[in-house]
Amino acid sequence: MAVKKVEIIVQPGPAHFVGDGFRVHNFIPSGQRLDMKRMDPFIMLDYNSKFNFGPTSTPRGVGVHPHRGFETVTIAYQGKVEHHDSAGGGGIIGQGDVQWMTAASGVLHKEFHEREWAKNGGIFQMVQLWVNLPAKDKMSTPQYQAISNDNMRKVDLGKNGIVEIIAGNYQGQKGPATTFSPVHLMNAKLKSGGKAEFNFPANFNTGALVIEGNIMINGDEKVSTDHFALFENEGETFTIEATEESIVLILSGEPLNEPIVPHGPFVMNTKEEIHQAFDDYNNGKFGFLED
Ligand code: MN
Repeated sequence: MAVKKVEIIVQPGPAHFVGDGFRVHNFIPSGQRLDMKRMDPFIMLDYNSKFNFGPTSTPRGVGVHPHRGFETVTIAYQGKVEHHDSAGGGGIIGQGDVQWMTAASGVLHKEFHEREWAKNGGIFQMVQLWVNLPAKDKMSTPQYQAISNDNMRKVDLGKNGIVEIIAGNYQGQKGPATTFSPVHLMNAKLKSGGKAEFNFPANFNTGALVIEGNIMINGDEKVSTDHFALFENEGETFTIEATEESIVLILSGEPLNEPIVPHGPFVMNTKEEIHQAFDDYNNGKFGFLED
């Protein structure tokens, strides 16, 4: 098997607020070379790098809004988020947990800092990733997967650290999330000097976001905190070595190779389907959710 080389290292762009609770750097689709086609099936990645939110009795976040046609995956590194949707899904996630919401045919949802956490405030750090759905599944029933850290499959690499699998496989172990197309998503938590090897099909679109620490990829590509490494679509294997204690989010997915027509909170395959989404939303077909 050949080495999968780094194609480009993308630095975090200027941060902006989503609602008043998420201060994010957008990597997908606005980061250099990280457009939806190149990253297919990953169509959005917002990264709330460490940010200190002060105490408040009114939790910050994003109010009720719709989604159709894809999945939203929230990965919590620090802080706590509470989520509710019109399909009855919801819950609280904290450090190390993940919520995987399949919007599919359509939901309304809201995302806020958890009330008790917000009272004290503190350092907040999260990733929100949107995974596109194949055309045949875009209008399927919404669902919600709460993936607590306890439920994640952990591959022990001994003195190197551990890999926590959210979805897909690592070294023959399988993560808990159900996906509609082949997607691998995992956190490598490496000790200083720790190494891990990864292996994904050449055609899968693959990247690594350094959440904590500093790493070296394939022995010669330095990637520092809050930077994103995009891999070439050639070769299969790469190694990550932590030059200090590090956390790295690894994503790799098989491209759907279908037309992508995004419009705000809807991502469909045709313009007509976008118009239909607006009609359905305006006609209350996404259900109801209290503010
Ligand atoms: Mn949302």
